[in-house]
Amino acid sequence: MAKTIFEKHSQGRKGFTLPKNDVEVSLGECIPEKFHREEDIKFPEVSELDVMRHFLELSHMNHCIEKGFYPLGSCTMKYNPKINETLVRNDGFMNLHPFQDEDTVQGALDILYELQNDLAEISGFANVTLQPVAGAHGEFTGLKIIRAYHKLKGNTHKKKIIFPDSAHGTNPATVILTGYEVVEIKSNDKGMVDIDDLKAHVDDETAGFMLTNPNTLGLFESQIEEIAEIIHGVDGLMYMDGANFNAIMGIVKPGEIGFDIMHFNLHKTFATPHGGGGPGSGPIGVRDDLVKFLPVPMITKKDDKFFLDHSFKETSIGKVQSFFGNFAVNVRAFIYLKMLGAKGLKRVAENAVINANYIMKKLEDYYYIPHKDTYCMHEFIASGKWQKEKYGIKTLDIAKRILDKGFHAPTIYFPLIVPEAMMIEPTETESKETLDEFITAMIEIAKESEKNPDVLKNAPINTPVKRVDDTLAVRQLNVKFEW
Ligand SMILES: *Cc1c(COP(=O)(O)O)cnc(C)c1O
Repeated sequence: MAKTIFEKHSQGRKGFTLPKNDVEVSLGECIPEKFHREEDIKFPEVSELDVMRHFLELSHMNHCIEKGFYPLGSCTMKYNPKINETLVRNDGFMNLHPFQDEDTVQGALDILYELQNDLAEISGFANVTLQPVAGAHGEFTGLKIIRAYHKLKGNTHKKKIIFPDSAHGTNPATVILTGYEVVEIKSNDKGMVDIDDLKAHVDDETAGFMLTNPNTLGLFESQIEEIAEIIHGVDGLMYMDGANFNAIMGIVKPGEIGFDIMHFNLHKTFATPHGGGGPGSGPIGVRDDLVKFLPVPMITKKDDKFFLDHSFKETSIGKVQSFFGNFAVNVRAFIYLKMLGAKGLKRVAENAVINANYIMKKLEDYYYIPHKDTYCMHEFIASGKWQKEKYGIKTLDIAKRILDKGFHAPTIYFPLIVPEAMMIEPTETESKETLDEFITAMIEIAKESEKNPDVLKNAPINTPVKRVDDTLAVRQLNVKFEW
């Protein structure tokens, strides 16, 4: 384990020069005496080179997409083109102030306006708001709109939102946050919505239905038209969780197959470096008659001028985010869209799907794959079930061993309906060579679980941090370094 910066401390060594302080400071005037330090703070004293080496070393300890394959299912950890980063750091973007007058930010509004339109076009919706700053935030905005829709119609009896048991955890959380009741229905043995169970749960109190498509098993929900008919039949609305849009963009327009509202995860599908909680952007698109409920303001164009439109504030659900949402993430998505164009987006989806099917096929003799008889979309579920039953190896052990081979582990134990699940999403940005290396590693691990199970139980052995006690870390969090 590398030394911490504190352990590199050497009295009197320093890496900075500051001008002499010529201002008289009297701490007592602004901070009460009792809060004053009694002794100097112990900052590590190190040279500039020490600092450079320290941070470079730390950066190498972390896994990132630039360092290696990152097949984290559901999260779409694709490569984020560096040109996005260069362009978004342009002075014209970076030095804007959100309080600037509309006249002085016409270029920025133009970009946002065009992004709204492009997203509406590829999703088949009437309009799109860019305010929500995460997928979960988009869900919240979407369900607020469902509420506003029912309120305006006097549908006071609407209480419930239905979703299948394969749903991402943010779906039920959003349902609760927006004041609805959660109704979870079963998936059938093909991994899709069980229509009979849906029918058994739909009634007059159904406000809407949330569905991820392709779903979290990596399967395209092919019964959407039937589901939409059932939900619309009781005046419910169809919400699509668009986190998996990477698999279908340029091919399917959700707004044309029965969905009324959908969110995008721009940070996943449209290439913004993300993880650890941000930054994100979760715009939502809505059908024609729901546009009036979108958050104010919308970015609109009139006589060649862009402006913030508050005119529908009587019907709008209000603002869900300050200013323009996560502007820089939106600009990155805009650049990404423009660089790829319509054909490019379609190729992204096709290659994402081909890559996932390639790995699935190659691993089917080594891992239990619950839905191997159908093609998967951009991701698939493998399971450590055989390894557990035969050799007592947990999926967690497999995931830890994957780290030793230089890859990030897939998402594990999700979706909840597949025991020992491993959710593998390679994305379109990986070469066949990388996919093959990963396949080889997964096959090696399957063999190790039979021949050398201890190596799995003790994994990882090659990483800077070995196996940690996650539960203890959460219960007794201590991030302070004592020296
Ligand atoms: C990532 C994800 C979400 C939530 O999106 P965030 O941007 O992380 O809030 C919702 N549903 C699914 C299926 C996801 O993969």
